[in-house]
Formats: sequence, C-alpha cells, structure tokens
Amino acid sequence: MYSYQVVEFGKPLERRDYPTPKPAGTEVVVRLAGCGVCHSDLHLADGFFDLGGGKRITLADRGTKLPFTPGHEMVGEVEALGPEASGVRPGDRRIVFPWIGCGTCESCAAGEETLCPNPRFLGARRDGGYATHIVVPHAKYLVAYGDVPEDLAATYACSGITAFSALKKIPKTTARECLVMIGAGGVGTAGILLVSAVHEAKLIVADVDAKKRETAMKSNRVAAAVDPAKPEAVKQVLELTGGIGAAGAIDFVGAPASAQFGLDAIRRGGTLVSVGLYGGAVPVSLPLLPMRSVNWRGSYVGTLAEMHEMMGHILGGKVPRMPIEPRPLAAANGAMSDLRAGRVNGRVVLKPALDPK
Ligand SMILES: [Zn+2]
Ligand SMILES: [Zn+2]
Repeated sequence: MYSYQVVEFGKPLERRDYPTPKPAGTEVVVRLAGCGVCHSDLHLADGFFDLGGGKRITLADRGTKLPFTPGHEMVGEVEALGPEASGVRPGDRRIVFPWIGCGTCESCAAGEETLCPNPRFLGARRDGGYATHIVVPHAKYLVAYGDVPEDLAATYACSGITAFSALKKIPKTTARECLVMIGAGGVGTAGILLVSAVHEAKLIVADVDAKKRETAMKSNRVAAAVDPAKPEAVKQVLELTGGIGAAGAIDFVGAPASAQFGLDAIRRGGTLVSVGLYGGAVPVSLPLLPMRSVNWRGSYVGTLAEMHEMMGHILGGKVPRMPIEPRPLAAANGAMSDLRAGRVNGRVVLKPALDPK
C-alpha cells in the first residue's frame, strides 16, 4: 500500500510505501476507491488550529506523530476481515465512518463518539484515507450507500454528516421561518442540499464569494444570498425575516467575522451553530446573551446514528447531489492548495485508481 503523508508540518505531503495491513480481531481492511479533501485536512497539514488572540493549539500538543496520513471522507471495498470481524464480506462497497471513539467511555456508551475524550478518529487522530488502504476497527463503522455514486458517497462521511448534524441542532422550523447559512464551500453546500431532510425554513446563504452566492441561488430552497462582508448584510437578513432575524444560523466558516454575522443575524431565542474551524476569537457582549436569549453552540461532525439517519434520506432519493471532482491521489498537494485558495466548487475526491502506474 501507499499513502500521501504529512512528514513535516507546513510542508507538502509525501508518498510513503508500506506493507499492506493485515486485520486483527474485529478489524476490517478496506481498499480505498476515494477520499474527499476537506478544509480540516489543511489544518492537519499546517499542524495547528488558530485559537485567536495569538494562541494556537498544535497537533504536536495533541499527540499527532509524524508521518501522518490525513483524509476522513473515505469510500472503498472490503478487502480482508480479522478473525473476529463479521457483518461485511470481501467485495462489499462501503463508506468508512471515521468519527470513532475509544469504545469504552460514557460518551461512547451513549453513542456520542464525537464527544469521546480519547477518540480514534480516522484521518484526524489515526492514519486516514489519502492512501490505498485503511484499517477500520469494526465493521459497524462501514456504511452501505446503495446506488449513490462512490465518489459522492465518500463526502457524506464528513461534509454530509457535519452539515446534517448541525442542521439537527437547530429546533424544527416552519416554512415561514428562515435559516442563515454562512459559507457555501463543501460543507455549506452539503447543508443547502440536506436542509429539506431536517427543516422547512427558507435559506439565506451568506458568502463573500459572488460565484458561490450565484451557485447557491440555483437551489430552490435558497431565498436569498448575501455578502456578509457588506455593512448592509445584517439589515438584508432582517428585511428578509420581517424585521426579527433568522430562527437559526450555521457558521460553516468559523472566523471572527462569520461568527459575529451569525450572532447578529439570528432573532431573540434563535440558535447559532458554530461548525467551521477557520480560527480566531470574538468579543461577546455578555448582557446581550441573556437579553436576546440566544443559544450559541458548537457542533463537531456527527454520530454514527445520525449517519444512518442521513443515509436513509439520501437513499430515499430526495437529496440533490453535490458536484464532485475526481483527481488522482498523487495530486493531493495540488488539491489542497486549490481548496485553500477557494478554487474548488463542491468537493475534490482523490482516487488511487487514477494514479500513474
Ligand atoms: Zn472534514
Ligand atoms: Zn470514548
């Protein structure tokens, strides 16, 4: 097998060859057909998250050892099962659910593996999918995807589940209400496509990129697209919501300006869900939290139960499809710089089968 790995933080990934892994116990080895390129892979390669105010959390502090293989939007074919593994057969095609906890703590026992203090997230804490093979600890993390195209299926493991879980964290809405989605990149686009599975509200999409706003407006669920960098953007949201503000907002960016815009755009009692990991910090006006009774919470990817619930909607055929751009796995570095520069529409999926032989 081979992987494209972070060998030094801040430097391009390098190819490394390894013996193909053999599954032990309940493990399953999957031969990967594709792996989506996600913004958080960029943070992994950089080696830090920006906490704002000059503070950083580094991956070295978090215990990430190099070389490390990024990639958590994986799809592929079961190649080998450990002696205690069951539930799949060689040749089965599955999405790899990467948000795997320790399996023994309270959070894991409650099915909230994303809250686990000792997670085994594939492509974040353990080696991930910029590779030809992945070892999955248990077959229950392999999710069927019916007749969904495999490259698209890969993206449900992060951009899909992240958007779906964030949408579920906003209380049910009616068709008369509005939700604001900030950032129409990969995860934001998944949010636009999945909104009908969870909410009746109309969408107001906020993105600084005119092209992304234009693409978002093609969805019949999007009532308006605004540029949050413009001073009149909050006023536009108020006008579109009868002067009261949106029922909820999801910040898919996670920068100071996007979080502030989200807080300003929601109504009294509204919910702001922070999802993006761009970085930075915001000063919060404390009296306004109680006076406006707003609910501001974070959401990190999603649970296995939510993954199955989301796939139920997708297999029901009611979720429109995100544009996918397949590229060779060997082109991982170029794909990452394109994503960093905002040159990707939808999702790039890296495929070992497209690599030069
Ligand atoms: Zn991701
Ligand atoms: Zn745990």
